[in-house]
Amino acid sequence: MRNRKITLSEQEIPRQWYNIVADMPNKPLPPLHPGTKEPIGPEALAPLFPMELIMQEVSTEKWIDIPDEVRDIYTLWRPTPLYRAYGLEKALDTPAKIYYKYEGGSPSGSHKPNTAVAQAYYNMKEGVKRITTETGAGQWGSALSFACNHFDIECEVYMVKISYHHKPYRKMMMNTWGAKVHASPSDQTEAGRKILSQDPDSPGSLGIAISEAVERAAMDPGTKYSLGSVLNHVLMHQTVLGQEAVTQMDKAGDLPDIVVAPFGGGSNFAGIAFPFLRMNLEEGKNIRCIASEPASCPKLTRGVFRYDFGDTIGMTPLLPMYTLGHNFVPAPIHAGGLRYHGAGAVVSQLLRDDLIEAVAHDNLEVFDAGVQFARAEGIIPAPEATHAIATVRQEALKCREEGVSRTILLNLCGHGNFDMKAYEDYFAGKLVRHEVTSEDIEASLAQLDTPIPS
Ligand SMILES: *Cc1c(COP(=O)(O)O)cnc(C)c1O
Repeated sequence: MRNRKITLSEQEIPRQWYNIVADMPNKPLPPLHPGTKEPIGPEALAPLFPMELIMQEVSTEKWIDIPDEVRDIYTLWRPTPLYRAYGLEKALDTPAKIYYKYEGGSPSGSHKPNTAVAQAYYNMKEGVKRITTETGAGQWGSALSFACNHFDIECEVYMVKISYHHKPYRKMMMNTWGAKVHASPSDQTEAGRKILSQDPDSPGSLGIAISEAVERAAMDPGTKYSLGSVLNHVLMHQTVLGQEAVTQMDKAGDLPDIVVAPFGGGSNFAGIAFPFLRMNLEEGKNIRCIASEPASCPKLTRGVFRYDFGDTIGMTPLLPMYTLGHNFVPAPIHAGGLRYHGAGAVVSQLLRDDLIEAVAHDNLEVFDAGVQFARAEGIIPAPEATHAIATVRQEALKCREEGVSRTILLNLCGHGNFDMKAYEDYFAGKLVRHEVTSEDIEASLAQLDTPIPS
């Protein structure tokens, strides 16, 4: 019998996270104060995050120990399996070898608990009583709800309104783990009320929900804020999954030529790609790492490299990033986790230095690829993950045309079992092709008066 699944033992869960900043030829530019526009030090972040996470955020150490208590919770679902996608290879009639790392077996169904558990742990160590956050499709909110519940911390989630209505069972999951959930924009915060007064029917966006969650945390000393993507420490926590994949590919006697992941703020992409990029930077390997984004929110392929806010109101520090502008409200596509205007500073710098690549896919194309994957491999992918599947399909078909075999590794970062509304709309023919116009992008960017990095 051929080997489909490559598994690891609990002892093989990595003992350290990998911090790619240590190996980057050009380090990310420093964050700036939103008011003075001067570089900020770690202390500026103290109202929002526990000190241990801030030190990780600015760390240039290459390896950071994973605390035993965090590794212990990881064993609930880690190590995760790596599959050879024999079914998909056959369906695509490709000479390419396709593998996928499956993160959907976590309690909340995606890669997000890898960082949620770590973040909740460090907050607990500092005696934090409540954590606020935003969520798009609900994957991050449910992951943090699960993690906070484990450490006995209150969790308050601002959920993008369109997703709140599309995904009622995600809210129910958060409630089951004891979290409080508000549809954002809400009337709970100054930021939410301001948006509602301008646009009472706003579908919300991650940028708006971040403004609300940050405001709540900034107002209350016992409350901290937590972000599910973008920041350096979040990306670093996710490298636990890519390090496992390195070991598993090695066990399979293979090395990927191409690594592909969907891209929202960069965390699952970083998780799978950074440990392979380490081989490029350190060992001279030449592994292509491709980030897949929606054509309706194309910050990597059509945005600009610029200092910008992480949120819509402009409360967060200014970060150097590829961005569509913090006022950009993406079309309400079902891949809620990818509806974010910017990219993390580390991935942005890597793209600027041509060390990674990016592609964009249309809404219809990705669901077509996602359904093909579900029929070939069984697992129903999260709408976010279907973007990467579309890229994998493109690369596999290129292999067929060129008559060459390449090894492709996909991060199947979550299942879509709570995203049936998206699949329902797709089958009902309700999804339309959507590509944002250049005018829309230019109009959003024209509003930016933030510093241009040198
Ligand atoms: C949150 C999420 C994403 C997008 O966020 P990243 O930080 O870019 O990973 C993608 N896929 C799934 C399943 C998610 O939950």
